[in-house]
Amino acid sequence: MHDDTDHQISRIAVLGATGSIGTQTLDIIARRPDRYRASVLAAGSRVDALIELCRRHRPALAVIADTTQYQRLRQELEPLGIATAAGPEALADAVERPDVDMVVTATVGYSGLVPTIRAINAGKDIALANKETLVVAGEYITRLLRNSPSRIIPVDSEHSAIYQCLQGEDPDTVSRLIITASGGPFRSWSADRIATATAADALRHPNWSMGAKITIDSATMLNKAFEIIEARWLFDIDPQRITAVVHPQSVIHSMVEYVDGAIKAQLGVPDMRLPIAYALGYASRATNVSAGLTMAQMAQLTFEEPDTERFPCITLARKALAEGGNTACIINAANEIAVAAFLRGDIAFGHIYRAITDTLARVPFIAAPGFDDYVATNSEARAVAADIITHYKA
Ligand code: NAD
Ligand code: MG
Repeated sequence: MHDDTDHQISRIAVLGATGSIGTQTLDIIARRPDRYRASVLAAGSRVDALIELCRRHRPALAVIADTTQYQRLRQELEPLGIATAAGPEALADAVERPDVDMVVTATVGYSGLVPTIRAINAGKDIALANKETLVVAGEYITRLLRNSPSRIIPVDSEHSAIYQCLQGEDPDTVSRLIITASGGPFRSWSADRIATATAADALRHPNWSMGAKITIDSATMLNKAFEIIEARWLFDIDPQRITAVVHPQSVIHSMVEYVDGAIKAQLGVPDMRLPIAYALGYASRATNVSAGLTMAQMAQLTFEEPDTERFPCITLARKALAEGGNTACIINAANEIAVAAFLRGDIAFGHIYRAITDTLARVPFIAAPGFDDYVATNSEARAVAADIITHYKA
């Protein structure tokens, strides 16, 4: 919880500190020592990067999810008076600490779920980068939020844009959310060429520099499906009122249309530090975060319909939201396995969508999942996907 009268400094736990969002978050924190302090830094397995960040940012606690890296973390940080811990459980425990006001969820994939639930139950505010949490269990998380003082402020650029456009408006007057998509590196490629694209091709995103997993999700456009699901839960809106449009310049970060026909858009250079700073400041504006847009950059704004033939993954949003239950959890798990296999060179790019639909056909549907069902579905879908892809030929 954040209360300016209690203390001026917001104490932040950065989960996924060594990643793309994590390091940019720490940049913002470091620039404003009068407003922010990193009290917890947590990472997956890159222990050397985590140690380096801890030397610079001096958190009270450092956590590494990969327990095999713990000895090294402890040896390096203990002399500096920084407490250390290891394992996914320790990472989730860390969010509950009294010296944490806000949790930045910037780990990748399913790993964001439990720490987010624990943060909500502990009444901590959340700057949410890990969209997979709302994909996996959006309905469940939304229910938890109703009984908690926690606030979720989106970090994802599209959702930050929508959040900004909604300020001062009556939610009942929203007619449509328009989520923009860059189209990814394969926007103008033929279906045949896309099917056999390499990891190096898929990792070459035209506008954003991000972690590998989300970059592949952008190339398949599953990322946009995930963002539609994320928007459905964040803004409690009928999925029929959410549309996606390809906007290759990534200048308009998303738009909200109102019942009178007016459309509000948020524009800016593609720089994640903008939505990160906006979220850390509880939807307030910081100074000098990013370069402004020039008129020349705004001169050519173009829009296209997403091509569902070449990018079938985008259709999975409608399927997931229409079916509800554990469908999106299955999609997310299968995708995590398929993307990792694609990055290793084990399967072709075109196999990612196939792995998701084949897994959906084999994992039982659960209409009203509880927490244990999400855990079980995630494990089962991962195992099924891992088995299925061994039968694909790269
Ligand atoms: P990244 O790969 O650059 O960094 C991921 C971080 O998570 C690293 O610190 C890694 O150590 C940690 N991590 C990975 N697996 C973990 C696990 N099992 N347990 C604990 N920690 C783990 O990823 P990123 O691009 O920074 O993305 C982070 C999240 O933010 C993703 O959910 C992504 O969809 C979302 N997001 C990212 C961007 C962006 O510009 N990078 C934009 C919007 C949303
Ligand atoms: Mg986004």
